[in-house]
Amino acid sequence: MEYRRMGKTGLQLSALSFGSWVTFARQTDDNTNERLMAQAYEAGVNFFDNAEVYSAGLSEEMMGRVLRKLNWDRSSYVLSSKAFFGWKGLDKKPNQHGLSRKHLMEACHEALERLQVEYLDLYYCHRPDPNVPIEEVVRTMNTLIQQGKIFYWGTSEWSASEIMEAHMHAKEMGLEGPSVEQPEYNLFNRRKIEVDYAPIFKNIGMGTTIWSPLASGLLTGKYNDGIPEGSRMSLEGYEWLRDKAVVNDKLNRVKALGDFANELGVSLPTLCIAWCISNPNVTTAILGATKESQLTENLKALEVLPLITAEVKEKIDEIMGTKPVVIQN
Ligand code: NDP
Repeated sequence: MEYRRMGKTGLQLSALSFGSWVTFARQTDDNTNERLMAQAYEAGVNFFDNAEVYSAGLSEEMMGRVLRKLNWDRSSYVLSSKAFFGWKGLDKKPNQHGLSRKHLMEACHEALERLQVEYLDLYYCHRPDPNVPIEEVVRTMNTLIQQGKIFYWGTSEWSASEIMEAHMHAKEMGLEGPSVEQPEYNLFNRRKIEVDYAPIFKNIGMGTTIWSPLASGLLTGKYNDGIPEGSRMSLEGYEWLRDKAVVNDKLNRVKALGDFANELGVSLPTLCIAWCISNPNVTTAILGATKESQLTENLKALEVLPLITAEVKEKIDEIMGTKPVVIQN
């Protein structure tokens, strides 16, 4: 495993990490989750990602039970949660979601309880909240840090200007700004990491724990000939994702990329994950594997990483046509 510094912090994250979003939502018992987490940990994965909203709190409970059972040394892994969406679904009341001090503090306490730990290493604002002053968010996250309940705080899918505003308030108040962002990053979605955040990487330094490196599985090629039974796109409740992802224009590019992976002698998922972590501004790619065989495959991305040369990247850009265009003034 390769370990990378999370932006300018001293925290080291494994370049490949493990997330529980849809993965845990599909399990009715803890056994598969336990096997997947143990497999990841044994391969050197040290970061496990979660959120209050995943399976309405059940994902944190499952991970908490598995962590307790596996009984790893708490200092050997990094654990996260995220707040914003709440976990009470459609029944949620005004202060049971969002980024107010009330919800962030309460959601943190609930996450600690569900995960059965004393502190979170990373705590994210899962989305920006236009109804809460960013200054309030900065102050609250710093209170949680001072209370020892979280070690670092971050954002997820915030715009570059929102992140900069948080840093500005933090600087004015002598507090800590967000040290990590969690954006989507894959061969279909590149602009935030490659263009929008460029000034932040340069001027402030920020780690990134990127999500959906395989675009929810599309970039494995598994949807090229239809929707396999049991796959994420076949699940009830994920029709919105299927309609957005499984479209001919994207599938044609995935097929062409698959041919290129064959030419290189590597699998398509490993090529796509290796491409993500070949970006030096990516600290870690969070894997969403639901089976041990998928995880075994995806972890091989580290072996493929040295093959991602400038020429290979150029060829990938040509096939995908998704390299963001930057208009210089
Ligand atoms: P991926 O893009 O890697 O998609 C994972 C899906 O792809 C799996 O469910 C699996 O699907 C399929 N898959 C993975 N590997 C293979 C393989 N080798 N062969 C075939 N199919 C494969 O990641 P996720 O979208 O799951 O995101 C990863 C993590 O990122 C999440 O768990 C979560 O922690 C985080 N996240 C954060 C978000 C945020 O807003 N901050 C949003 C979304 C995710 P199948 O079900 O078909 O088996």
